[in-house]
Amino acid sequence: MNIDVETGGRVDVVDVTADVAAAIPDDADGVCTAFVPHTTAGVVINEHERGLCADVETALERLAPRGATYEHDRIDDNADAHLRAMVLGESVTVPIDGGELGLGTWQSILFVECDGPRRRRLRLSVVRE
Ligand code: ZN
Repeated sequence: MNIDVETGGRVDVVDVTADVAAAIPDDADGVCTAFVPHTTAGVVINEHERGLCADVETALERLAPRGATYEHDRIDDNADAHLRAMVLGESVTVPIDGGELGLGTWQSILFVECDGPRRRRLRLSVVRE
């Protein structure tokens, strides 16, 4: 299963929880893995709160500032985005209980764009118990 994700800025945090939940079979128990098949975007589980999403952008800029000296920028000018994506990670795994995502109260599945805006893809795999 794939989910299409439209990102709206060079860095963007998109809550994909509802899209992932909609793709889970009704009576499934097991786990769902969401995998980002890109090298300049990541996926994390955390709180989807406006201020925190802005803090993500600030923290990523501090971690790997755009325009700093990078070897990869000689060919592609987006090394900062690759480095940010590596730190974020390319997959998350969520338990599934009776067809529902087993997320904590404040947890959401967040697709984090690091080199947008773009049309992206999120791959879902459900493994049933
Ligand atoms: Zn690149």
